[in-house]
Amino acid sequence: MYISATRAAIGLSGLRAPLLRSVCTSRLPGGRGLSMMAENTPEEVVFNQPKIELHVHLDGAIRLQTILDVAKRRNIKLQASTKEELAGIITLQEPFTLTRFLDKFAVYMHVVAGDRAAIKRIAYEFVEDKAKEGVIYVEVRYSPHLLANAKVHPIPWNQKGGELTPDDVVQLVNEGLREGERAFKIKARSILCCMRHMPKWSMDVVELCKKYRNKGVVAIDLAGDESLNCEAYPEHRKAYEEAVRCGIHRTVHAGEAGPASVVREAVEVLKAERIGHGYRTLDDKALYKKLLAQKMHFEVCPISSKLTGAWNLEFTEHPIITFMKDKANYSLNTDDPLILNSTLNDDYRTAHTHMGFTEEEFKRLNICSAESCFLPDKEKRELLNTLHAAYGLIQTTAF
Ligand SMILES: [Zn+2]
Repeated sequence: MYISATRAAIGLSGLRAPLLRSVCTSRLPGGRGLSMMAENTPEEVVFNQPKIELHVHLDGAIRLQTILDVAKRRNIKLQASTKEELAGIITLQEPFTLTRFLDKFAVYMHVVAGDRAAIKRIAYEFVEDKAKEGVIYVEVRYSPHLLANAKVHPIPWNQKGGELTPDDVVQLVNEGLREGERAFKIKARSILCCMRHMPKWSMDVVELCKKYRNKGVVAIDLAGDESLNCEAYPEHRKAYEEAVRCGIHRTVHAGEAGPASVVREAVEVLKAERIGHGYRTLDDKALYKKLLAQKMHFEVCPISSKLTGAWNLEFTEHPIITFMKDKANYSLNTDDPLILNSTLNDDYRTAHTHMGFTEEEFKRLNICSAESCFLPDKEKRELLNTLHAAYGLIQTTAF
């Protein structure tokens, strides 16, 4: 950390009392059900200060209404005609297995994939939604291949072949994010995902990262089934080696549902600079100690970890609490708010209500997030200055 003093004692001004609604933590961790409360009811904000979000999937953050609108325009039949009906099919209320969770994407991805206007729209609306949550900088991730219908094998989601390539997808997302940034006055960058089960896409992904590195793309990610390791799929390793060679930033989903060895591989083989989730790191004490000393950044997602079944005990026993107590370097994120029917505020509320997070810790973790974001140094410094000013903190050491 680079803060040695606070201008004033950190009060509780931005930390509102938790909602009075009682929740069963094993079912509705964010305190929300299928009533679409985020869209219809103003919710009390737990940490009413500027925030950073580093781990959220664009295709897991689409508005229900947008899916309905695009399906209607494209004449695609869905099993639902209202937001409530669609939510009933897409969103989770009870913990699933990660595999069943991933099946949810198949309900709607064929609606938006391959459609130029839809892809640009979801990127634009994503920025608006994040601005409303008080996010001032977000890194949003997606697989360009999973939104394409040309130059991708196999063509995903049972689409017919078309003309939209992964390269076109990246351009459209960049445009949508850029227009969103202008309209909603926040900063948005993107991370391109390799998929563990599709190793032959990975070199494409790193090439797209290189091509668009000055146009909004800041890093590469590896997502999907953690049981598919890089020994069996060397293409991922080659893509990450190229990323290292070219100075492309790197994050990897690891230690979410998979064991600590996946985290070790991410760090040692793939040279990850950040770890997506990383909860299972705690099972390997030596590795955890080493990563703590290195200030490795963990992108944690409390509600997601519960509903995907990655963490199946109570929130009060969650590894995130250990990260907090050890003053680890981590961020607080939504992951897939569409499927989880959650907002960033729900994750903050969960951390506050069930894990004992204070306003001071929320500030600390957002400073950590800014320090570990993938912006160039100058922009990172500006972001840190903005947070320090907003939080009433004095920065005595230059970043
Ligand atoms: Zn994720």
